[in-house]
Amino acid sequence: MKMKICVLPGDGIGVEIMAQAEKILGRITEVFGHEIEIDYGLIGGAAIDEKGSPLPTDTIEICRNRDAILLGAVGGPKWDEIDKSIRPEKGLLGIRKEFDLFANLRPAILFPELKDASLLRPDIVDKGIDLLVIRELTSGIYFGEPRGEEIRNGQRVAFNTMIYSEDEIRRVAKVAFEAARKRAYRVCSVDKANVLDVSQLWREVVIDTAKVYPDVQLNHLYVDNAAMQLVRDPSQFDVILTSNLFGDILSDEAAVITGSLGMLPSASMGQKKPDLYEPIHGSAPDIAGRDLANPLATILSVAMMFKYTFSLDKEARAVEEAVQKVLAQNFRTGDIMSPGMIRVGCNEMGELVVREIG
Ligand code: NAD
Repeated sequence: MKMKICVLPGDGIGVEIMAQAEKILGRITEVFGHEIEIDYGLIGGAAIDEKGSPLPTDTIEICRNRDAILLGAVGGPKWDEIDKSIRPEKGLLGIRKEFDLFANLRPAILFPELKDASLLRPDIVDKGIDLLVIRELTSGIYFGEPRGEEIRNGQRVAFNTMIYSEDEIRRVAKVAFEAARKRAYRVCSVDKANVLDVSQLWREVVIDTAKVYPDVQLNHLYVDNAAMQLVRDPSQFDVILTSNLFGDILSDEAAVITGSLGMLPSASMGQKKPDLYEPIHGSAPDIAGRDLANPLATILSVAMMFKYTFSLDKEARAVEEAVQKVLAQNFRTGDIMSPGMIRVGCNEMGELVVREIG
C-alpha cells in the first residue's frame, strides 16, 4: 500500500518523539512491503517563530492531500506571553477545524507490565483496562450559540448552548460503531437523557444508527454513572461514545486511571482524509531536548493510524506487540520508571521497539 503522511513535530519534546515514530514507520513499511511518502510542516511555536502564525497556510496545504497527519505537541513557556490570537494551541484548534475532525478517539489501555502506575486498586486493575473513548469534537456546548454574558435583573448572567443536530450525532455514532467492529463489538453511549433535551435526541439518534450495526451491542449510561463506573470497574467498557463536554471530562478520567500520560495515543477523524494522530500529552518543556521523553504514546499513535486510516490490522498489532515486548523486558523511560527496571532514553526506547518489529 502507498501511504501519504504529513509529519508535524511541533514544539518541545515533539521533535524527539516524532523521530522515534518515523523509525517505526520506516521499519513497518520495510517489513510489510508498503510504500510511504512523508512531508513535513510547521505548527505551534515553531511555526510562529518562522512564519508568524501557529498554523501557516502552507502547513494546511501540505496536509491537505495526505492520508494522515502525525503531530507531536505544541506550546511552551517561550510563547506564553504572546498575543492570544496566535498562541501555539491555536494551531491545534485550527487544524481540527480546517479538516472538520469531528470524532476524537482516545484509547485508555493499561499494559499489564505497568499496572503499578494505575491509580486504581490492584483487584480492579487485574481485570484489565482497554477501552476507547470517542468524543464528538466540533459541536455541542463548546461551540453552541447563543453564548455570552449580559445583565439580567441588575446582575451579570452568563450562558452557553448545548446543541446537536441529528447529522452531527449520527456521523460520530457511526465512527463509534465502526471502531467497535475493530475491537470487542460493544458501544456504551453516555448522555444525560434524564435531564437534557439534547441528550434525548442524542440517545434516539444513536439507537437509530445502531440498527445498521446489528453485530454491535449498544447500551446507555448517564454521564454521572459513567464517571463512577470508570473508576469502579473500567474493564466493563469497550467503546464509550459521548458528546464534546462529557467526552472532555471522561477521556481525561479514563487516561488518568492508567497512570501514564506518556503512553496514551489519540486520533481525530472527519468524514474524509486526512485523519490526525497525536499523543495526548503536551510538549513537556521541562524535559525537552534531553532525551528523556517517553515516545511510546506517539509510537502507539502510529499503530492507531495503521488500524483506523489504512485498515492495516496486522501492522498495527506488530507495533503494539513490539511495545509490549519492550515493556516485558523491563525497559522504561523516566516517567514510567519503577524500582528494578532498566532506565532508557527516548532514542533508545525507539530503537528497542524497532528491533522487536518483524
Ligand atoms: P505536558 O503534558 O506537556 O506535561 C505534563 C507533565 O508530564 C510534565 O512533567 C512532563 O514532563 C510530563 N510528560 C508529558 N509527556 C511526557 C512524555 N512523553 N514523556 C515523559 N514525560 C512526559 O503538560 P503541561 O506541562 O501542562 O504543558 C506543557 C505545554 O504543552 C504547554 O504549553 C501546553 O499548552 C502544551 N500542551 C500541548 C498539548 C498538545 O500539543 N496536544 C496538550 C497539552 C498541553
